[in-house]
Amino acid sequence: MLSNRNLIEFTKIKSLQLPLDFHKGKYDTENLKAHDLENEFSLLIEKGIARENEKSLLEQVGPRITKLKFGNVELETPIFMPVGTVGSVKSLSPEDVYSIGYRVILGNTYHLNLRPGMELMRDFGGLHEFMRWPGAILTDSGGFQVMSLAKIRKITEEGATFANHINGAKITLTPENVVEIQEDIDSDIQMVLDECTPYPATHAEALASMERSMRWAKRARQARKKLNRAQFGIVQGGMYGDLRVKSIKQLIENDFEGYAIGGLSVGESKREMRRLLSATIPWMPENKPRYLMGVGAPDDLIDAILLGIDMFDCVMPTRNARNGSVFVRSSAAPTGKIQIKNSAHKSSREPLDSQCLCYTCKNYSRAYLRHLFVAEELLVFRLMSIHNLQFLYDLTHEMREAIRSGELFHSLPDIRRKYAPGSV
Ligand SMILES: [Zn+2]
Repeated sequence: MLSNRNLIEFTKIKSLQLPLDFHKGKYDTENLKAHDLENEFSLLIEKGIARENEKSLLEQVGPRITKLKFGNVELETPIFMPVGTVGSVKSLSPEDVYSIGYRVILGNTYHLNLRPGMELMRDFGGLHEFMRWPGAILTDSGGFQVMSLAKIRKITEEGATFANHINGAKITLTPENVVEIQEDIDSDIQMVLDECTPYPATHAEALASMERSMRWAKRARQARKKLNRAQFGIVQGGMYGDLRVKSIKQLIENDFEGYAIGGLSVGESKREMRRLLSATIPWMPENKPRYLMGVGAPDDLIDAILLGIDMFDCVMPTRNARNGSVFVRSSAAPTGKIQIKNSAHKSSREPLDSQCLCYTCKNYSRAYLRHLFVAEELLVFRLMSIHNLQFLYDLTHEMREAIRSGELFHSLPDIRRKYAPGSV
């Protein structure tokens, strides 16, 4: 079941061009400004990074459906990918995740290398077999963890050296050893080691950091021994559109199987994130997957899908669920969110969301879930996580079907009101 996988196959199924009234601001929300695409492009022309005749690149920015195939795993984008950092989507079994409809999960190179370690991973022939996951696996390189977990770290041209968060022993991640670890994990999509630029950073700091990440990306590309797995490059450049464009242009020279946008959702405003996506996406190859790392809020997914992002991941839906917070359609709660510990749910026979078809909503009342949460019963983690993952699955599914039917721009206000009422 798990053999016969190979390099990612990419097919574009359908794309929609942004309508003219999109650019006139008809689709503006608090965060997404339709004129950003053209504004950001004009700024790049002023800085000498773009040429007037490259403006046609803006025409390829728009929502799309693509098909990704890894051996016998086949799926359509846009997709959200649940995070299973240490080889498990917390509190869920692989069957739970698979039966919602998910076909790609994340594992983390840094965490898995520490525990259980690569000797055991090689013994089992990789993470698919070790955790018995029949879908595809994407591994994050560890660059983000270096920034977020390591208190003392030293970044040099060679790599990143830091004390690990488990026993404090010193470890060094290099572009080369990160490739080696991912080849032992045998993930289908492997991310290059990058330096996640701190936020905030000056233009000079972001430039130096981005350029080092680009040199690391080139080294990672050359370090591969197994050529039958996909490797994605990661765009960096902090909060500077011009650096992001330089970054993607350099990555393209290495001809990766896909391209990711990293270093966003690190503390900047949502408005700032939309602006940087508008600056970057026109330059990302049309015939390769585009992945926005670490983003999973419903309003962020909607806006980034509109601009042509195919893949997302975030710990937030499962982490929030464990903290008793779930996303619901606006028909279930006007804010789009429920805090289960709230006493309003104490004797409610309602499911979390009566329009949701997840296992939890089909079987359990808010009162029961609240009781489990208050009593600190472990089952609540699983039930709430199933619901949140179903919610994001349904959101991306509805966006995908609206792209397929060509009705997306017509139904967009309804989709926003339904899934992300806070952003309208
Ligand atoms: Zn549900």
